[in-house]
Amino acid sequence: MDIPRIFNITESAHRIHNPFTSEKLATLGAVLRLKPGTRVLDLGSGSGEMLCTWARDYAITGVGIDMSQLFSKQAKLRAEELGVAHRVEFIHGDATGYVADEKCGVAACVGATWIGGGVAGTIELLAKSLGADGVILIGEPYWRQLPPTEDVARQCFAHAISDFLMLPELLAFFDNLGYDVVEMVLADQEGWDRYEAAKWLTMRRWLEANPEDDLAKEVRTQLTTAPKRHAAYTREYLGWGVFALMAR
Ligand code: SAH
Repeated sequence: MDIPRIFNITESAHRIHNPFTSEKLATLGAVLRLKPGTRVLDLGSGSGEMLCTWARDYAITGVGIDMSQLFSKQAKLRAEELGVAHRVEFIHGDATGYVADEKCGVAACVGATWIGGGVAGTIELLAKSLGADGVILIGEPYWRQLPPTEDVARQCFAHAISDFLMLPELLAFFDNLGYDVVEMVLADQEGWDRYEAAKWLTMRRWLEANPEDDLAKEVRTQLTTAPKRHAAYTREYLGWGVFALMAR
């Protein structure tokens, strides 16, 4: 079981697989006022940077589930590196329908809301693992500017303009589900550069090492086109943030 191989190639060197920098991730941890021993569930935990750094900085404990074998392995190594392997556990698997045995203080899905079939479904799924007065974290894109055409939306990792909302609409969406938005930390264009541009050097090095690979042609095309596409579209149109929610 694994995610499409292209992501394991292009994001193999990423610690954070979204447009947050390590500073933004630290800000998010700080604003949540996490108490030591808080249990955090993370669906689509990637390379584990959120759980590992928060375990180091705030003494949380946590469980992360991720479908990428590579990212799950990197998460375990990171936990050892930061000396928090006793506090965090990483499970390689499909997080679809995953409900924790023990109730959590924080239940997160940061940049992987397809796991619950969209934002509403993911909130519903995370709520099943949450203790009383727990906090749900949703990491999700929104439009900074509404794309003028469907084609522009498709250049921004969307299938259609309707895939994402504008920020006020996204906040209203949470409200309509019966949740208070109690905090939010938003990515910026610098964060998008870190997430996207870091893929370019990784792709270049991978191509040098794997010229005959089945995916070499696809990676070559991506490397040639990604910088211009990023500058013209993603960087300008797409926003991204993590929203902290508490049921009303
Ligand atoms: N939250 C992490 C990773 C976000 S990228 C971070 O912010 O760094 C999305 C992640 O979802 C990837 O790591 C991918 O491997 C994982 N993923 C995709 N589908 C999944 C599924 N069905 N179950 C668990 N993880 C999944």
